[in-house]
Amino acid sequence: MKIFGKRASVDETVLHKELGEFRIYPESVFDKDGAVLAMARNDREKFLIVAAPAGNKVFAAFEGEVTPSGLKKAPLNAANAAALALRHFFPWTAPVSLRERKTTIGCGDRLGLASVGHIAAIRHFKATPVLAQQSMRELDMTGRTYRQVVDDTVFLVFQTGFQDGYGADGDHLKKISDIDVALAADMPMITLDLSEVMLAAAGDWSQAQIDEAFSKLDQAECKRVMDAYHGVSFGSGADAFEMTDDIIRRCTVMYGKALDFAKVVYDHLKAKRGDHFDLEISIDETTSPTLPSHHYFIARELISRGVHFTSLAPRFIGEFQKAIDYIGDLAEFDRQFKVHADISKAYGGYKISVHSGSDKFAVYPTVGTMTGMRLHLKTAGTSWLEAVRVIARKDPGLYRKMHKKALASFDDMLRLYHITADISKIGNVDQMSDAELPALMEMAEARQLLHITYGPILKDPEIRPLFFAAMFKFEDDYTETVKQHFEKHLTLLGVPEK
Ligand SMILES: [Zn+2]
Repeated sequence: MKIFGKRASVDETVLHKELGEFRIYPESVFDKDGAVLAMARNDREKFLIVAAPAGNKVFAAFEGEVTPSGLKKAPLNAANAAALALRHFFPWTAPVSLRERKTTIGCGDRLGLASVGHIAAIRHFKATPVLAQQSMRELDMTGRTYRQVVDDTVFLVFQTGFQDGYGADGDHLKKISDIDVALAADMPMITLDLSEVMLAAAGDWSQAQIDEAFSKLDQAECKRVMDAYHGVSFGSGADAFEMTDDIIRRCTVMYGKALDFAKVVYDHLKAKRGDHFDLEISIDETTSPTLPSHHYFIARELISRGVHFTSLAPRFIGEFQKAIDYIGDLAEFDRQFKVHADISKAYGGYKISVHSGSDKFAVYPTVGTMTGMRLHLKTAGTSWLEAVRVIARKDPGLYRKMHKKALASFDDMLRLYHITADISKIGNVDQMSDAELPALMEMAEARQLLHITYGPILKDPEIRPLFFAAMFKFEDDYTETVKQHFEKHLTLLGVPEK
């Protein structure tokens, strides 16, 4: 009997006698240079099966135990991820630059489990996923490294047979040393967070303070920006703005140093990766919205410094709180977002990047339409919440443990996340029936509670092994849940189907 479809003759009886009970992921069966590979799982773990005649070099490249009949059971470790992705046996399992892709979706997989559901949804749409996407804070909260994040994705991409390409984003990085860690893990996308190097406070300074600070800057540079922007205007009608001398001075004081740093980072990326990278410029982690005139200044200054950036994340008007829909004046959002989109179209055609973008269903139609789908949307925690939803449905006892851990850690986590949930509105989970628990994932307060406390929950020594064991058991449920959730996102954004 032949397994792996019709491509290799391996006796299935022998296989199961040697490896015990397992199932093969049907989309993961591939030939390569005389070897056949497949991803499999039993009730405890996933592994690769490699079958090949003696002396085959693909077979030799994978680590693992060889069975009496000559099959290899290869663990999902760093060496075998490298064999799949980096030694070019299956280059599509490695992340790539998405510079040329018009619509990209940052999926973010904090658990190393969600990418299968992301792929299941997005493969039917005209968009490319950034499957691996983590900030340093997320790595700290989940106890992972960039290498592990990428390796987990490599295996999940192989498992699904998804060959359309995907990205990997070292998210919200502020220092070259952190960027180097992401680059060393082969992440082609870097989101450069300028919040600490820009002088955001100067947004609130009086004009006299701005003028004084401006007068202390390099005078040749001051003359250059005044010459470049004096009397320049953008747009028409009610949304037109003029770069007054006051605005030019304020922008120079606020962003000058940050833009110089962006150039240093760009040159660094270029030296390390040629043209095979995506640089996102992020100014969203500030207290006040990015004014269109400031966005305009930043974009033009980056271009004049020779910085080729793929996307830019302004801070938008209103609130993009984690886990819930947009809060704010929708008409004003639409008006300002259109100007941001128009600036990007006029200067370089980079993508507008929307951070904390999951579940912001109210603004999706505007975001999709105004950008003409040339956009990057970042999501992350929402896929964690879908995992919590699966636990609430399938393992109520574990859900209650997680919920109580979340309550106990909530005040600590509030220091890291700006959310406004009144968690006293959530009932006592001990007094709810099992059947009532999944509905908590529809409640804004409970969603925000569970969203911001993923770190303490995942670090809890009792909960962590129980959680991952349950997620392994309910793998297919999680995939389906994430798939449906992302289909909703993609559809409301207006991403065309393939
Ligand atoms: Zn952000």
